[in-house]
Amino acid sequence: MLALLAGLFVGLGVWLVIDRVQTKALSEIFDKELENQLHQHARESLIRFGEYRNAITLQVRMLANHKRMAQYLDPLWWGDDDVVLFPKVYVESRPIWMPVAYKWQSDILPSHMILIDTQGRLREIYRFKDKSVPQDLVDDVPLYTAESQRRAVLTTLSGEPYLIVSEPVTDNALYNMGSLVILVPLNSEFLIASQQAVKAEQSIVAVLDPEAQYILSSSDPSLVPSGDALDKVRESYVVTAQSFFDYDDSDLNMLFATLLPRSAFERTGQQVIELQRRQRIYGAGSIIGAFVLFFVMISWYINRLLGRVSKVARRALDIEQHKPMHGNQLLILEDWIREFINMVRKTREEMRERHESEMRETEELRSAIMTTSLDSIITINSQGMIIDYNATAEIKFGYERDEVLGEELSELLIAPRSNEEFQDHLITCLTAEDWESDPTRHELYAIRQDGQEFPVELAIKPVLVDRNLLFTVYIHDIVNRRRQENEIRSLAAFPSESPIPVLRINSQGVVIYANSAATPLLDYWGCRALQTLPVYWKNKLEEVLQNDQNIEMELVIDEKIFSIMFAPIAEFGYVNVYARDITTTRKAEETAKQRQNELVHVARLSTMGEMATGIAHELNQPLSAIVNFANGSLRRLRHDVGSKDDIMDALDQITTQASRAGEIIKRMRGMVTRQQPVREIVDLNALVAEVGSLLTHDIRKKQIAMKFELSPEELFVRVDPVQIEQIVLNLMRNASDALKNRDPQDRRIEVSSGRTGEEMFYVAICDNGSGISEEAMEQLFDPFFTTKQEGMGMGLAISKTIVEDHHGSIYAKSGLGEGTTFVVELPSNTETVKSIAI
Ligand code: ADP
Repeated sequence: MLALLAGLFVGLGVWLVIDRVQTKALSEIFDKELENQLHQHARESLIRFGEYRNAITLQVRMLANHKRMAQYLDPLWWGDDDVVLFPKVYVESRPIWMPVAYKWQSDILPSHMILIDTQGRLREIYRFKDKSVPQDLVDDVPLYTAESQRRAVLTTLSGEPYLIVSEPVTDNALYNMGSLVILVPLNSEFLIASQQAVKAEQSIVAVLDPEAQYILSSSDPSLVPSGDALDKVRESYVVTAQSFFDYDDSDLNMLFATLLPRSAFERTGQQVIELQRRQRIYGAGSIIGAFVLFFVMISWYINRLLGRVSKVARRALDIEQHKPMHGNQLLILEDWIREFINMVRKTREEMRERHESEMRETEELRSAIMTTSLDSIITINSQGMIIDYNATAEIKFGYERDEVLGEELSELLIAPRSNEEFQDHLITCLTAEDWESDPTRHELYAIRQDGQEFPVELAIKPVLVDRNLLFTVYIHDIVNRRRQENEIRSLAAFPSESPIPVLRINSQGVVIYANSAATPLLDYWGCRALQTLPVYWKNKLEEVLQNDQNIEMELVIDEKIFSIMFAPIAEFGYVNVYARDITTTRKAEETAKQRQNELVHVARLSTMGEMATGIAHELNQPLSAIVNFANGSLRRLRHDVGSKDDIMDALDQITTQASRAGEIIKRMRGMVTRQQPVREIVDLNALVAEVGSLLTHDIRKKQIAMKFELSPEELFVRVDPVQIEQIVLNLMRNASDALKNRDPQDRRIEVSSGRTGEEMFYVAICDNGSGISEEAMEQLFDPFFTTKQEGMGMGLAISKTIVEDHHGSIYAKSGLGEGTTFVVELPSNTETVKSIAI
C-alpha cells in the first residue's frame, strides 16, 4: 500500500512538471502553426486575386490593340480644342471598335468601357449596366489614365472600389488617339470570381479602406457587408490585411484582406484543447501507472529480498519459523530482529549460567581426572617444587601426597641419569612460543621411593595461574609398553629365526623379504632379496594374487623336495611364500607304497595258496585226460589196433588238454609273480571273465549257480590288471564263502558290469548269502576285520587301497540275511573312449 501511494504521489508530481512544460510547448507550436497557415492562406488569396486582375488587364490590352480599334480610330479626329459635350454612349449595341466575335473572357463584366482622348475627355462609353460613369473618374480622368499610359489602378470611385485598367489606343498610322479605360467594380462577385479556383472553406476575402478602417467590399456580403467597420468584423473573424502588390501606379488607398471566421479557429482550438486534455489524461495515466508499477515492483523485490534474508538468517541461526512470512517484510524483519536480540540476550544469559556451571563442573572434573587419571599428574611451581600430586602418582612412586608437597620434583622423582635431561625439557617448554600447543613427550627414567628406576613418558605443560607460572607434569609409566615393544621386536624377528623358508614377494615380483632358510629357493630362482623373480615365477605370482587363493606346489631342488605354499594377501598386494622340505615325507610315502605293494602281493599269494587245492584239482583234469589219451594211444600203438587217425585224434586231445593246463599255470603265475605296479588299458569284462575261470572248480564244488551279466560293450579301463583281478577274485571268494550256510539248491552269485556314468564303469558281485550286519558294515574295510575263523581280514582293506589308488571306489550294499552286493567303480579310460568314438 505504501509503495502504491508513493508511486501515485511521485507519478503525480512528475506528471505535473512534464504537463506544464509540454502544454506550453504544444500551445506555442499550435499558435505558430496557426499563424503560418493564416499567412499562407492570405498570401494564396492575394496571389489568386492578382492573377485574376492580370487576366482582365490582358483582355483590355487585347481589345485596345485590336486592328478593329485602329480601323475605327483611323478616320476620327479628336481635336485638341474640341469641346465634348456628350460622349457617345453605347447602351444596347456593341461599339464598332469591339471585334465582332469578341466575348469578354471573364465571369465578371466590366461596368464601363470608355474611350478617352489624349486630352482626357471621355469620347465613347460602353455601358454594361445601366450605370453612369462614376463622377470621380469624370472629374479627374488623367488621374486614372496617366497620359495614355498603361495602367491598372485599384481605387475607389464615389466610395466604391474599382479596378481601372487603361491601355493606350492608336489609329492605323499609330497615332496616339488616347486610351481605352475599363472599369470593373471590385464587388463581391469580383472577389468571389478572383478566388474561384479555390473554394476556401469559410474564408472570405475583402477589400479594406485602411484609413477609414471599414470594408469596401467582400466576397460574402451577407456575412461581411460593405461598410462594416473593421473592428466589428474582427469580432467574428481573424483578419489578415495585405497591401496589393504589383500596382505601382495604384493610389494604394486599399488593402486586400483575408478573413477567417473565429469560430473555425475556436473549433480547432477546442479540438486541440480536447486533444491536449486526452493526451494529458493518457500521459498522467501512463506516468503515474509507470511510477506506481515501479514502486510496487521495487517494494515487492525488496520485500522478497528481505524475506529471503530473514529466512536465510533464521535458517543459519537454526531458529524455528513459527510465524507466517507474508506481508511487509520490513516489519517482519524488524519483528524478527527484535525477537533475535531477545534470543541473543537470553542465550547470553544462559551461556553465562552454563559457563559458570561448566566452570564448577570443570573444577570437579579436573579433580576427578587428577584422582582417576592413569598417569601421574604432578604440578610444580617455577622453582620446581611440588605443589600438587595425584593419587596415581602416590601408587607409582610410593610416596604419600603430604610427603612430597614442597619437595623438588627433579631431586625426588626423576632418576639421577635423567635429571639433566628433565631440566633441559623444563627450559625448552618455558621458551616455547606457543604454550597452548600440545606438549612434547619425552622418554626418561623416574625413580620410586624404593630406589627402583623405571622408564616413563613425560610431558610438561606450563600454565599461568594468577600471574604465577606453574608446570603440570604428566608422567606415564611405560614399563609395559617397553615390554610390548620388545615382544613385537622379537615377533618381527620370528620369520628370520624360522628354520623353514619364508619369503614375501610384492605384486611386481620383487622379493621384499626372505629369511636365511630361503636361500636354496632364492638360489633356485637365481635372485636375492630386493631383486625381481624370473618371468615365469613372476607371472605365477601375479596369477596367485589375482585368484586370491592359496596354492601349493612341489619343487625338486638339489635332490630335495620342497612343498611351496603361495599365500596371497590381495589387500596389501603381496604374496607370502612358505616352503617345507618334504624330502623325508616323500621318501616315507614311497616306502609305504612299496610295503603296500608287497602286502598286496602277499595277500595275493595267500589267496592263491588257499586256492591251491582247487587249482591243483583243476590242473588234474587236463593232466588225467592227457595221461588217459597217452595211455590209450600207447595201447593202440602197442597192440597195433586202431587207425592212425584215432591216434592223431588222441594226440590232438593231448595237445588241447596240455594247452588248457598251460593256461591254468600261466594264469597262476600271473597272479603269484611279483610285479611292479603297472597301468594297462584292458577290458574290465575280460578281467572279470578271467577271474571267473580261475574259480570255476571252486564254484562248482560248492554247488553255486554263478551267473555273468556283463555289458555287451567293452569297458576299457587303465589299470593294473593283476591288482583288479585280485579284487574281483577276493569279492567272488567272499561271496562264495557267504553262501556256505545256504541250501545248496539256492546258492547264487551274479556278476554284472556296465556304466555308472559317462566316465565311470562298474563291476558288481551280488550273492544271496548271509549278508552283513550293521556293525560289521561300519568296519567292513578296516584291516584285520574278519568274521571267519581262518580269515585274515585283509582282503577288503587291500581292495579299498587298490581301488583308491586307481581313483575309483568300492562299497557294499547289504543287510543281515539279505545277501550282499559289492560294487567296484573305476574311471573309464577317456583316451580309449575318445578313440572309439572317433
Ligand atoms: P576275510 O575274507 O579274510 O575275512 P575280507 O577282508 O575279505 O577278509 O572280509 C572281511 C569280512 O567281511 C569277512 O570276514 C566277512 O565277515 C565279511 N564279508 C565279506 N564279503 C562278504 C559277503 N559277500 N557276505 C557276507 N559277509 C562278507
